[in-house]
Amino acid sequence: MKASKRTKWIEIEYWDCGIDSHTHRTEAVASACIEKQEKRSPLPDKKTRYKRQVYAARRVLEGDTFTKVGKDLGISGGRVSQIFDKTMRMARHPSRLDVDTIPEGNYWELKHLRENKEFWLRQIQKMADLWGV
Ligand SMILES: [Zn+2]
Repeated sequence: MKASKRTKWIEIEYWDCGIDSHTHRTEAVASACIEKQEKRSPLPDKKTRYKRQVYAARRVLEGDTFTKVGKDLGISGGRVSQIFDKTMRMARHPSRLDVDTIPEGNYWELKHLRENKEFWLRQIQKMADLWGV
């Protein structure tokens, strides 16, 4: 027998919550997902997000806790941590980073970032200028 290429169609049954990438196994989970989506507040506009990123990054680099910054922004400390991580990831991007001037050490650690805050605050300023915030 000679090998032949075939196509087999399979059917997948799932509960839809309105998000393309979601395939829920039960109606209850899909309903809970929809409920969760409805409760979620919409993402603020880009300018507001950029301002929040710059503000959060500066405050955390200055030594404030995620919780304290979150209280002032009306969001959770965990969310501030996410925003801070994203902002620092962007600040470390090679397109914005002068490789020869990076301070020695592990720049993925908060301790390192705070010890070299002048450098990282300049990086944040570069982004603030770029974004116009
Ligand atoms: Zn869903």
